[in-house]
Amino acid sequence: MKPEIHPKYYPDAKVICACGRTFTVGSTMPELHVEICSNCHPFYTGKQKLLDTARRVERFEARAGKQTVAAAGRKGRKVKKERAAARKATKKPKLEREPGLSKPPAASS
Ligand SMILES: [Zn+2]
Repeated sequence: MKPEIHPKYYPDAKVICACGRTFTVGSTMPELHVEICSNCHPFYTGKQKLLDTARRVERFEARAGKQTVAAAGRKGRKVKKERAAARKATKKPKLEREPGLSKPPAASS
Protein backbone atom coordinates (compact mmCIF):
# COMPACT_ATOMS: atom_id res chain seq x y z
CA MET A 1 0.00 0.00 0.00
CA LYS A 2 1.17 3.48 -0.79
CA PRO A 3 1.79 5.35 2.48
CA GLU A 4 -0.22 8.32 3.66
CA ILE A 5 -3.06 8.09 1.14
CA HIS A 6 -5.25 5.54 2.91
CA PRO A 7 -7.63 6.40 5.73
CA LYS A 8 -7.26 4.64 9.05
CA TYR A 9 -8.92 1.25 8.99
CA TYR A 10 -10.84 0.04 12.01
CA PRO A 11 -11.13 -3.75 11.82
CA ASP A 12 -13.78 -3.78 14.55
CA ALA A 13 -15.89 -0.69 13.96
CA LYS A 14 -19.03 -0.63 16.04
CA VAL A 15 -22.33 -0.52 14.12
CA ILE A 16 -25.36 0.73 16.02
CA CYS A 17 -28.76 0.23 14.43
CA ALA A 18 -31.89 2.22 15.14
CA CYS A 19 -33.48 -1.00 16.40
CA GLY A 20 -30.85 -1.26 19.10
CA ARG A 21 -28.72 -4.06 17.69
CA THR A 22 -24.95 -3.57 17.68
CA PHE A 23 -22.30 -5.51 15.85
CA THR A 24 -18.82 -4.97 14.51
CA VAL A 25 -17.53 -4.66 10.96
CA GLY A 26 -14.37 -3.45 9.31
CA SER A 27 -14.60 0.20 8.39
CA THR A 28 -12.72 3.45 8.06
CA MET A 29 -15.10 4.96 10.58
CA PRO A 30 -14.73 3.92 14.22
CA GLU A 31 -18.48 3.97 14.82
CA LEU A 32 -21.43 3.70 12.43
CA HIS A 33 -25.05 4.57 13.05
CA VAL A 34 -27.50 2.87 10.69
CA GLU A 35 -31.25 3.05 10.30
CA ILE A 36 -31.77 -0.57 9.40
CA CYS A 37 -29.89 -3.84 9.73
CA SER A 38 -30.45 -7.50 8.94
CA ASN A 39 -32.09 -7.86 12.35
CA CYS A 40 -34.93 -5.47 11.58
CA HIS A 41 -35.16 -5.24 7.77
CA PRO A 42 -38.50 -6.57 6.44
CA PHE A 43 -36.67 -8.77 3.96
CA TYR A 44 -35.14 -10.73 6.82
CA THR A 45 -37.96 -10.47 9.32
CA GLY A 46 -40.69 -11.30 6.79
CA LYS A 47 -42.91 -8.70 8.37
CA GLN A 48 -44.32 -5.54 6.83
CA LYS A 49 -42.84 -2.59 8.60
CA LEU A 50 -43.04 1.04 7.74
CA LEU A 51 -39.73 2.85 7.92
CA ASP A 52 -40.42 6.51 8.19
CA THR A 53 -37.07 7.91 9.10
CA ALA A 54 -37.49 11.13 7.09
CA ARG A 55 -41.14 11.56 8.15
CA ARG A 56 -42.15 11.21 4.51
CA VAL A 57 -45.39 9.36 5.24
CA GLU A 58 -46.42 12.01 7.73
CA ARG A 59 -45.70 14.78 5.26
CA PHE A 60 -47.56 13.00 2.47
CA GLU A 61 -50.61 12.49 4.66
CA ALA A 62 -50.60 16.15 5.62
CA ARG A 63 -50.44 17.14 1.95
CA ALA A 64 -53.20 14.70 0.99
CA GLY A 65 -55.39 16.02 3.80
CA LYS A 66 -54.91 19.57 2.55
CA GLN A 67 -55.96 18.47 -0.94
CA THR A 68 -59.10 16.80 0.40
CA VAL A 69 -60.07 19.99 2.24
CA ALA A 70 -59.57 22.03 -0.94
CA ALA A 71 -61.55 19.53 -3.00
CA ALA A 72 -64.47 19.63 -0.54
CA GLY A 73 -64.86 23.36 -1.10
CA ARG A 74 -64.70 22.98 -4.86
CA LYS A 75 -67.84 22.42 -6.92
CA GLY A 76 -68.12 19.41 -9.14
CA ARG A 77 -68.73 19.21 -12.85
CA LYS A 78 -72.34 18.15 -12.31
CA VAL A 79 -73.12 21.24 -10.22
CA LYS A 80 -71.46 23.51 -12.76
CA LYS A 81 -73.32 21.90 -15.63
CA GLU A 82 -76.66 22.23 -13.85
CA ARG A 83 -76.03 25.86 -13.10
CA ALA A 84 -75.07 26.53 -16.72
CA ALA A 85 -78.27 24.83 -17.89
CA ALA A 86 -80.36 26.91 -15.48
CA ARG A 87 -78.70 30.08 -16.70
CA LYS A 88 -79.34 29.08 -20.29
CA ALA A 89 -83.02 28.42 -19.52
CA THR A 90 -83.53 31.83 -17.92
CA LYS A 91 -81.69 33.63 -20.71
CA LYS A 92 -83.96 35.31 -23.23
CA PRO A 93 -84.18 33.29 -26.43
CA LYS A 94 -82.14 34.39 -29.42
CA LEU A 95 -83.89 35.77 -32.47
CA GLU A 96 -84.79 33.09 -34.91
CA ARG A 97 -82.61 33.00 -37.94
CA GLU A 98 -83.17 31.49 -41.29
CA PRO A 99 -81.59 28.07 -41.39
CA GLY A 100 -79.60 28.73 -44.57
CA LEU A 101 -78.04 31.92 -43.33
CA SER A 102 -74.66 31.31 -41.71
CA LYS A 103 -73.78 34.92 -40.94
CA PRO A 104 -76.06 37.27 -39.11
CA PRO A 105 -77.50 39.93 -41.35
CA ALA A 106 -75.31 43.04 -41.57
CA ALA A 107 -76.40 46.08 -39.64
CA SER A 108 -78.41 48.45 -41.76
CA SER A 109 -76.44 51.52 -42.80
ZN1 LIG B 1 -31.83 -3.03 13.01
